[in-house]
Amino acid sequence: MNSNRRQFLGLALGGPALAATAVSARGSEPTTKTSAHFVILGAGAAGTALANRIASRFDGAKVTIIDARKAHYYQPGFTLIAAGLKPADYSVSTTAEWLPRNLEWIEEAAAEIDPEGKSVTTTSGKKVAYDYLLVATGLRLNYEGIEGMSLDLIGKDGIGSVYAGPDYAAKTWEEMNRFTDKGGVALFSRPATEMKCAGAPLKYAFLTDDYMVRKGTKSKSKVIYAAQNKGFFSVPIVSEKVRMLFEERKIDYTFDHVMKKIDPARKIATFATPEGDKEIGYDFTNVIPPMVAPDVVKNSPLAWQSGPWVDQGWAEVDKGTLRHVRYPEIFAVGDIAGVPKGKTAASVKWQVPVALEQMAAQIEGKESTVKYDGYTSCPLITRIGRAMLVEFDYKNNLTPSFPGIIAPLEELWISWLMKEIALKATYNAMLRGKA
Ligand SMILES: Cc1cc2nc3c(=O)[nH]c(=O)nc-3n(C[C@H](O)[C@H](O)[C@H](O)COP(=O)(O)OP(=O)(O)OC[C@H]3O[C@@H](n4cnc5c(N)ncnc54)[C@H](O)[C@@H]3O)c2cc1C
Repeated sequence: MNSNRRQFLGLALGGPALAATAVSARGSEPTTKTSAHFVILGAGAAGTALANRIASRFDGAKVTIIDARKAHYYQPGFTLIAAGLKPADYSVSTTAEWLPRNLEWIEEAAAEIDPEGKSVTTTSGKKVAYDYLLVATGLRLNYEGIEGMSLDLIGKDGIGSVYAGPDYAAKTWEEMNRFTDKGGVALFSRPATEMKCAGAPLKYAFLTDDYMVRKGTKSKSKVIYAAQNKGFFSVPIVSEKVRMLFEERKIDYTFDHVMKKIDPARKIATFATPEGDKEIGYDFTNVIPPMVAPDVVKNSPLAWQSGPWVDQGWAEVDKGTLRHVRYPEIFAVGDIAGVPKGKTAASVKWQVPVALEQMAAQIEGKESTVKYDGYTSCPLITRIGRAMLVEFDYKNNLTPSFPGIIAPLEELWISWLMKEIALKATYNAMLRGKA
């Protein structure tokens, strides 16, 4: 598995070499004959990779993908755009260019899923029947979950938001650049919900701090990181390393703070804490909204029915097979999957083959032992030119792809290169089903 991971993380630092290896490897993959109709909801990282893999894994299958979005976003690039290192169009391509031929693309959103009747209805009322349903809708950024917050505030009066999209990431950079020229109070936080790339809020705090140091404005400034619970990261050893870096860089931190309100006129954010609401003033803040399942899943029988995720609405799938616990012909892959880890593009790479092998075994009347182990990877930028390549699994084990070469908890230039240069080529190869 390690060598495949290395390929994903792009040790070759080049897409073509990687793609060539993968194509020949794919030539020896088994194919399963089936006339089944596979319907994929969402043509983002997971949906596109699934579409390309299904095309080569199943002989005779019919594939339909449903997604209204014409643009494809390479989201790991948003952090680089918001750090002034890449232009907004660095993350933008088209959905059409990644999809395989011989696939039907319905350019609408899915509005309703009927798992009993095995059909999906689109926003225009079109009903699409399926034999297998692959749910890959990603998640919804719930900006309304923070009182006073709206997208039109981004890029003004000290408000940034890296997550909102490439143009908003560019506006965030303009605001962060203005702020770091003069300094002041920089406030960072993250939501209490599950979120994609949970390292991204930390990365942006470190990057802003680094700019202030470089511009000579740090000494008259204050950087505050308000964590949503009692740690900075779900893996304890990584959380402790972040705490040490915060101490070293004189970044203040506080725990159990969840942003609930923002007042742009007064530049004050209100946090829910165990002791009641607390206000913190800022000159610059990166607002990260709560993240929930899109309504089509959240309001469907696919969502978790009990437990901590009921309000967030993630698809209730088995964490190893990614198969829905009540509907065996439904799988969830990517951010929408209601599993304890794995809301990263790197996780998608490991989830897609699992869903495929599980479906192939089901079609062939066999049982597959292929399981997803929770692999998640986060190149945690700690300053410009340095990152820690943090990789882990469900059990919070660190799972380095390059043991003895790249130490996961060291700030290294090579780990930075992987994020800055290699990740996009390997992400693109993954979309094509070749990594
Ligand atoms: C700032 C930031 C930094 C990140 N950094 C990293 C990183 O360094 N490394 C890493 O591995 N990952 C990173 N990620 C996470 C990574 O981008 C996501 O985990 C990944 O894109 C998830 O893929 P997905 O297919 O589940 O969702 P997406 O790629 O978001 O795609 C979801 C698709 O579903 C569609 N959709 C939504 N609702 C419907 C509907 N009702 N019907 C039909 N289609 C629908 C959308 O239009 C979209 O095209 C980062 C993300 C962000 C935002």
